[in-house]
Amino acid sequence: MEFAEFALVCERLEALAARLEMRDLIASLLPGLDEAELTIFVRFIQGRVFPDWSPEKLGIGPNLLYEAVAYVAGRKRADVVRLVNETGDAGLAVERLLAKRQQSAFFSDSLSLAEVHALLVRTASASGAQSQQAKMRLLRQGFGAMTPREARYFARLVLAELRIGIGEGTVRDAIALAFELEPALIEHAQQARNDLGEVALLARIGPEALREVSIVPFRPVRLMLAQQGTIAQQLADFGPVAVEYKYDGSRIQFHRVGQIGRCWSRRLEEVTHALPEVVEALLAATSGDVILDAEVVAVGPDGRPLPFQTVLRRFRRKHGVAEAREAIALVPRVFDCLYADGETLLDRPLAERRARLEAQLGDHLAPQQVLDDEEAVRAVYEQALADGNEGVMLKLPASPYTPGARGRAWVKIKPEVETLDLAVVGAGWGEGRRAGAFGTYELAVQDRGQLLGVGRVATGMTDEDLAALHALFKDLVIAESGNTVTLEPQAVFEVGYSEIQKSPNYASGYALRFPRFVRVREDKGVDEVETLETLEARYRRQATQNGGNGTSTVE
Ligand code: AMP
Repeated sequence: MEFAEFALVCERLEALAARLEMRDLIASLLPGLDEAELTIFVRFIQGRVFPDWSPEKLGIGPNLLYEAVAYVAGRKRADVVRLVNETGDAGLAVERLLAKRQQSAFFSDSLSLAEVHALLVRTASASGAQSQQAKMRLLRQGFGAMTPREARYFARLVLAELRIGIGEGTVRDAIALAFELEPALIEHAQQARNDLGEVALLARIGPEALREVSIVPFRPVRLMLAQQGTIAQQLADFGPVAVEYKYDGSRIQFHRVGQIGRCWSRRLEEVTHALPEVVEALLAATSGDVILDAEVVAVGPDGRPLPFQTVLRRFRRKHGVAEAREAIALVPRVFDCLYADGETLLDRPLAERRARLEAQLGDHLAPQQVLDDEEAVRAVYEQALADGNEGVMLKLPASPYTPGARGRAWVKIKPEVETLDLAVVGAGWGEGRRAGAFGTYELAVQDRGQLLGVGRVATGMTDEDLAALHALFKDLVIAESGNTVTLEPQAVFEVGYSEIQKSPNYASGYALRFPRFVRVREDKGVDEVETLETLEARYRRQATQNGGNGTSTVE
């Protein structure tokens, strides 16, 4: 497949509104692709170059991209930025600029899908002192050989946002349709492999290949997620629950093969080298090959858990790990087992996985009790809080492990705290003492793939925070206008507030009263922020709590 054809497909998909039509179009193309193309196409169409678990990252921010485009179009970087501002989309801006490029290019050496992929792989592998220049050369080379339409989608692919409305579900269903298989079978394989590109290859082989698929050690699977709930409701609807403490730390997935142990964070970044004592502890506590799900907590000298930020600081550390290890002791609390001695356990009920876990693990097991009495569960909850934990998790003993899914199989019970996790989509330059750094940040909730504004936060940050945040965000600027900037939505803030109010000023229709920055949720992605639906539910709950008087409108 030529990259030009891929771009044309994207353009057609972008014009479609119905999910089924999108699915049909993608499905019609899959059987005609060769092996390598099939994998690449399936990843690209989702706006990905590499699977989530891959250590390969492009490492190209908007600024580098704009510079490459400016060069190829024979314009200034400022022209590119201006057009991105006008169009609100880097892809469209790039397309328009290249359409006007003074020196007409020869497209005789047009690129195939595989060649664009190879170019991006080379871009990702450029490292060391000269890496930015190397990436720039490769980008110029790519744009130089592309038509404006190709450049639109190439630019978006590089920024990891294709904007054609294709979610993982649509691609999964397209693969099922193309190879005449049940979508559930595709989903099953995807849970273990975490890469639809590879799953598409298995689908082409046939249903057996999908059914037999197993987890590949050292390739992390997505983590199962929890939903909020109440003790009474969970017991009433499902009967006995497995109760565990909800530790206030950071999630890891640990893989062991032979004498080698490695671990990944919640966002599937490898953290083996940042957490040597955790790896050592889990190697010592296990004997066979396993994959474990655990929370890592920091403990103080008195054995009580230390705050969550202490743990995160360790996750991020690249240098001075040995010193940090002495200052903060990290310990794992293991609560699930996804794989043991060559067997994938995702489909097994929790009760069976727990039995396997207890057989595999000599130490660091998170205690669990199966209870069906509300008072008894509440007593564990009170004890969990008294011991310095966040609350408890209630899990259904019969439930399978569903990677990446949030459902009632795992429910978290914790005290009501009024904070929201929100996407950071823009910023404003500070004034006075805060000049030279961003002083306010614009926040958004998600609603079916879109981010909708819900207000700004400017308090709760120390000067140190502001400097650190500025360093984090300065490379994510996509567009500038006056003293505000649009940011590539990548980071998540936890924000406190006193009340949710209706507001015509923001796209979500809501605003926060007294928003206050609490922390950066480095363990969360933008796809995990508060949804409009849950925000509305909070708004309604708050109205009932305040007897219907507490909901005001901000003008
Ligand atoms: P939340 O981040 O509030 O959605 O809560 C879910 C998180 O709680 C998980 O991702 C884990 O990091 C953490 N957690 C703490 N203890 C447990 C446990 N016993 N089982 C599952 N998750 C836990």
